[in-house]
Amino acid sequence: SEGSGWVELREPDVAVEEPSGPQPVVAVVGRPNVGKSTLVNRIIGRRQAVVEDVPGVTRDRVPYDAQWNGRAFTVVDTGGWEPDAKDRAAAIAAQAETAVVTADVVLFVVDAMVGSTDVDEAAVKMLRRSAKPVILVANKADNTSIEMEATSLWSLGLGEPFTVSALHGRGSGDLLDAILDALPEAPAIVENRPRGPRRVALVGRPNVGKSSLLNRFSGEDRAVVDSVAGTTVDPVDSLVEIGGQTWQLVDTAGLRKRVGKASGTEYYASLRTAGAIEAAEVAVVLLDSSEPISEQDQRILSMVTEAGRAMVIAFNKWDLVDADRRYYLDKEIDRELRRIPWAIRLNLSAMTGRAVDKLAPALNKALASWETRVPTAQLNQWLTALVQATPHPVRGGRAPRILFATQAGVAPPRFVLFTTGPLDAGYQRFVERKLREEFGYEGSPIEISVRPRK
Ligand code: GDP
Ligand code: GDP
Repeated sequence: SEGSGWVELREPDVAVEEPSGPQPVVAVVGRPNVGKSTLVNRIIGRRQAVVEDVPGVTRDRVPYDAQWNGRAFTVVDTGGWEPDAKDRAAAIAAQAETAVVTADVVLFVVDAMVGSTDVDEAAVKMLRRSAKPVILVANKADNTSIEMEATSLWSLGLGEPFTVSALHGRGSGDLLDAILDALPEAPAIVENRPRGPRRVALVGRPNVGKSSLLNRFSGEDRAVVDSVAGTTVDPVDSLVEIGGQTWQLVDTAGLRKRVGKASGTEYYASLRTAGAIEAAEVAVVLLDSSEPISEQDQRILSMVTEAGRAMVIAFNKWDLVDADRRYYLDKEIDRELRRIPWAIRLNLSAMTGRAVDKLAPALNKALASWETRVPTAQLNQWLTALVQATPHPVRGGRAPRILFATQAGVAPPRFVLFTTGPLDAGYQRFVERKLREEFGYEGSPIEISVRPRK
């Protein structure tokens, strides 16, 4: 391409860590054929396959992930209003409204070859009321003479027009710089720090077998690599080998010092458990299969979920469960754990070593789910189909619409749904269930928040 200022956007060389909070949203609006899709392709650097047209699904409000100068944001291609819609003004209003609801910055695209039209002026009125920052883009400025003519677009009252040629790559990085300037403050994308061993909390009420399991991995008398020189491993943590991998078991000091156990109050033990979970990425919650699931067990399970950590539930002492009881036990367990059907379950025995080799694969699976990111386009393709098949129930003649979704972060996966109003709790649970059906997340909690229009 003959581009002078455009820089091709490339995948960074290093894995990126997700910034916290939802990415800022840039909406691209304008008449049909002004070049919105072409501009969006430029901005995303054609890194993502543009969503295929799904039969029966309008290509509308399709969001893509974009990056510029180390900042990540979401670009929403609003698709353009129907050129021959009966009530064009209403259609324009609806689109501008959508932009207002969802965007942090609006790119208003006009055709520099055509100049401003009545339709453009009507759209500007709508956008002005929004109080959102609007950047005027004069597209199809393929040469200097069109660029000169584009100065007449100052008359739209949106300030300086940014002249670009989305098709040929002509124009300047000035537009992207202007977008970044207009975006709300967001943490920059930081490079991944070198990853040490994964941090695991081994938790459970007294006597479920935590020390016994720990001993399996450390070996009874073998000194564990407790405080390896030059590492930042907390002295109360242990580095142990599980399944050929080194793991950092957080706060194992209490598990080793058996005297400490007798003297600790339950309150103290619970604080310690909460601290270990907080410090970990994934928790192994040990339960005693020979006893019913207790309130204390449930409290520990809730602590893990509320802390947003990946989770593996290990039913220890499985050697004590006789074959007859297993069927009923499974039913009982399903009932007790119905709030957390996503947790990975293992039946093991620290004493006999049964299924202990399944722990490392389970931990890895839970951590992979915990760090899963679904590309925005894929997420919304799925969501559009879901909402079409099962729309939100109508209440009092109205039903909130889900405009689109973005994944705001990982560890655990967090999603934001942009909507025209609050969703029924039941419908939100339905979306979460379907999201899990589609994308998995076995072993990880996920969070969904709803952002209705103000
Ligand atoms: P949208 O309907 O606003 O999304 O517009 P499209 O991106 O589909 O573009 C409409 C037409 O304009 C297509 O034929 C594009 O190739 C063309 N187009 C887009 N950008 C430019 C440009 O910068 N210069 C020229 N000459 N044509 C362009
Ligand atoms: P902690 O308080 O959670 O650290 O539990 P311990 O590891 O001290 O174990 C409590 C008791 O349960 C001890 O008597 C262990 O020998 C016994 N225990 C631990 N794991 C198993 C197991 O898998 N099967 C059986 N039968 N007993 C076990």
